[in-house]
Amino acid sequence: MPRIDRRSLLACGLAAAAIWRPLGQARAASFKADPFSLGVASGSPRANSVVIWTRLILEDTSAITSADPFAPAPKRVAEPMDIEWMVAEDETFSKTVQSGLFRAVPEFAHSVHVEVKGLKPGRWYFYRFRSGNATSPVGRTRTAPEGGDAFRFAFASCQQYEQGFYSAYGEMARSDLDLVVHLGDYIYERSYGAELVRRHGTGVPSLLYEFRDRYALYKSDPQLQVAHAAFPWLTIWDDHEVTNNYASDRAPDAPNRAEFLDRRRAAYQAWFEHMPVPPALAAGFDALRIYDHYRFGNLLGVSLLDTRQYRSPQLQGTAGNDQAERTMLGSVQEQWLARTLGMSQAKWNIIAQQTLVSERDTKVGPETGYNLDGWDGYRAARGRLLSAVQSSAASNPIVIGGDLHAFYAADVKRDFMDEKARPIASEFVCGSITSDAPSEASLATALAENPHLKFASGKHGYAIMRLSERSAEVDFIGIADRKQRNSPAAVFQRFAVVDGAAGVNRL
Ligand code: FE
Ligand code: CA
Repeated sequence: MPRIDRRSLLACGLAAAAIWRPLGQARAASFKADPFSLGVASGSPRANSVVIWTRLILEDTSAITSADPFAPAPKRVAEPMDIEWMVAEDETFSKTVQSGLFRAVPEFAHSVHVEVKGLKPGRWYFYRFRSGNATSPVGRTRTAPEGGDAFRFAFASCQQYEQGFYSAYGEMARSDLDLVVHLGDYIYERSYGAELVRRHGTGVPSLLYEFRDRYALYKSDPQLQVAHAAFPWLTIWDDHEVTNNYASDRAPDAPNRAEFLDRRRAAYQAWFEHMPVPPALAAGFDALRIYDHYRFGNLLGVSLLDTRQYRSPQLQGTAGNDQAERTMLGSVQEQWLARTLGMSQAKWNIIAQQTLVSERDTKVGPETGYNLDGWDGYRAARGRLLSAVQSSAASNPIVIGGDLHAFYAADVKRDFMDEKARPIASEFVCGSITSDAPSEASLATALAENPHLKFASGKHGYAIMRLSERSAEVDFIGIADRKQRNSPAAVFQRFAVVDGAAGVNRL
């Protein structure tokens, strides 16, 4: 993406003046409506860098007036806009450590992705953007630590906008965290359920501008904005960022494969435009590699997986769910994960993926039933994932997931049927921020039928994990009523995983 660093401009001396003029046009823009109405965000934190994000909303072109009387009146906002960014050590920006200009272009919906480099590890920084007479809210972010510092992160998923308010994010923003991990279903492509508290107001997106508008609607929520402004995020998608239950190049609502791939490309681009992810991801959207590994000192490694883009088609019935050729990650990502876990020196190894890895029989009694959209529809692939976890000898593997709109804690086993088998990893699934939860009866069945599932709850909220040398502690946090705007939140269940002993312990 085009990017002009201010210091390199100033270094140019007289040449800088010539370059400054076209840049100056945007700097002089006078906005009548706040162009920063989607807030700010940061993410992809490394020890020396972090990505800062915003997107200018320039819907009403008549609201922009140029200070240059000879400038042609814009018909649409098709011009690039030059955005000034600033990173400081303090909230009042008296100790600015870096600043620059970023050219936001209409081809990327005037989104801004600045990868700020040369920062110090394990430090809080503050950032903001400016364009013309408009200044963004201030965001706070944190680089990854280098040593063995204790670390806290929240994980969340599934935030259907119509089914509830984002009280959970309001509460999250007030907590003491180093990071937020979002596991997917950041937007939903359509309406689901009843008793909706607010509406999308538009239909199912298939074109780029329609996906952009959907993200803009979700990101207009003030409680989501404060959670983004408070911490750096790592984000991966699940299915609803494109459409329900899609698998690689096909989807239940897409009879035509070529048309679906056009829709998927638009969805992937809009996802990029609205997430605080590295600018290098803008290289192309026919495919988008979002799986990655992040290291937080010696304590923690986070492997982010993509279980949507490369998976085999969903089965219509359980038969065949153990076929070896069926894949969830695709062979390239599978091999990458095995290598990544094998090289990890971290004490705690988080495998962040979309859903529940552990087996879940959903039928009472000897009969069995499985969610074929999850790992139970891809059993051989799960076997390969678990043998990679085992053979890598990665220390303290912990799987985290979302998708099920329910909280789960589980002992991950090589053979889930073997009640005596020792767990090889621990697993925590967060409930949904707002999306409709399954029935209490179905959760009770899951617990009764699957002894390795140690806990289940249909509350709405998120989870926090606190890591130290000795243990990983997990809090499940629930909000009282997702249909209320500022609903109180409370920890309703605590767990611990002890260093060197896989398995979840209820506290
Ligand atoms: Fe969901
Ligand atoms: Ca059963």
